[in-house]
Amino acid sequence: QVVNYAPFTLLPSAVPQVLFEQAYAVQQDFNLLVDTISQNKEFLEQTLASTIKADDFTARLFQIYMQVLEEGLAQTVFLGINRSDYMFDCGLDGTAALRQIEINTIAASFGGLTSRTADVHRLVLKVLGKTEEASHLLPNNPAKGLALGIAKAWELYGSQRAVVMFLVEEIQRNIFDQRCVENELWNRNIRVIRKRFWDVFEQGSLDGSRRLYMDGQEVAVVYYREGYVPQIYNQQNWEARLLLERSRAVKCPDIATQLAGTKKVQQELSRPGMLEKLLPGHPQAIARIRATFAGLYSLDEGEEGDRIAATAIADPDRFVLKPQREGGGNNLYGEELRQVLEKIKDSPERTSYILMDKIKPQPALNYLLRAHSPLQVSECISELGIFGVYVRQGQTLVLNQAAGHLLRTKAIEHADGGVAAGVAVLDTPYLV
Ligand code: ADP
Ligand code: MG
Repeated sequence: QVVNYAPFTLLPSAVPQVLFEQAYAVQQDFNLLVDTISQNKEFLEQTLASTIKADDFTARLFQIYMQVLEEGLAQTVFLGINRSDYMFDCGLDGTAALRQIEINTIAASFGGLTSRTADVHRLVLKVLGKTEEASHLLPNNPAKGLALGIAKAWELYGSQRAVVMFLVEEIQRNIFDQRCVENELWNRNIRVIRKRFWDVFEQGSLDGSRRLYMDGQEVAVVYYREGYVPQIYNQQNWEARLLLERSRAVKCPDIATQLAGTKKVQQELSRPGMLEKLLPGHPQAIARIRATFAGLYSLDEGEEGDRIAATAIADPDRFVLKPQREGGGNNLYGEELRQVLEKIKDSPERTSYILMDKIKPQPALNYLLRAHSPLQVSECISELGIFGVYVRQGQTLVLNQAAGHLLRTKAIEHADGGVAAGVAVLDTPYLV
């Protein structure tokens, strides 16, 4: 067993202040949108109809979703923790625009570790004699913001004895990030347990009113830090997932909210009129949300899909090809995109993907510090994430906030990103 420090940039990276503020200003809107979609069965059914024919994993999640709806939800309190990620697209005239890459509605991570990175960069700047610059770095504490949401959900669940359960990976590579959030809960005198799907299969049970118990201990909130990749689901783990979803416990997220975070949903949201249909009476929220959208394209069977597939094969560097997967390392770019699309363009498999315009940010120089890696200056680009947290009781949103930010930076030779994927590193925005 080896412990490494989390990778980080030597220096903070410049981020345009207007875009940073724009990203914060739209976060409550995205919380509202995700929460609304999670309650819209018709939209989820229609949007994912083609995808679940071609993608087994999404189909399996959808099956659980339908099953719990049929039985009737026991859950009455809902907790969302998401992270909306953006890049700064560089226009021909050199101005940058905020473009959403995706929104993560399950296991959005690094809120804990990034609550410490501003301190690191402040110290580095002071060592370099840049005391004035150091004082400009913003405070940032997503760990506290996320814990606030979990604590609120725990309180509304209404059982003093009940615990919060972190559902964690078999091999725990990011435990310290999770501990930052956990410690905030202990500080509020809320008990936390850490369990794997396998433990739930072995120890989990529901009582007559579908309260969830782990070895006799009642669970108020299940906070998933696992469960978004197909590989971890064997038969027992699927059964455990179903048990959790059927329970009264507050799931963060519930299965509907996980489905609301799929790339297919993201693509359908960009269709003209779609946001208006989903959020009637919220024209300003819609305008703020839409202003962050990049070009997104359906590959569903038919003329529209044929046309965009042909365009992407002819000019692959303009696009990113995305399957319904999370966690980094799954998207296709450039020549590989062209080859794959060429192969599947006439098969139903095509509909398990979406296409997106490739965002092209202006690179900047930085050092990426990573255990056992040589120190060298790299051309880098950054991705800004804003954490959102909300709690709904029945039909009422009782909490809806932005909970802090995350800046991740990677060398430009990597098309795909992700800190956990070993490509990006933690960074701090220096507003300009
Ligand atoms: P995942 O769910 O695997 O994190 P993302 O959509 O966030 O999927 O893509 C992973 C990474 O790929 C991003 O962090 C970013 O570095 C890169 N990427 C994704 N979409 C685009 C895009 N449209 N333009 C440029 N890079 C992208
Ligand atoms: Mg991502």
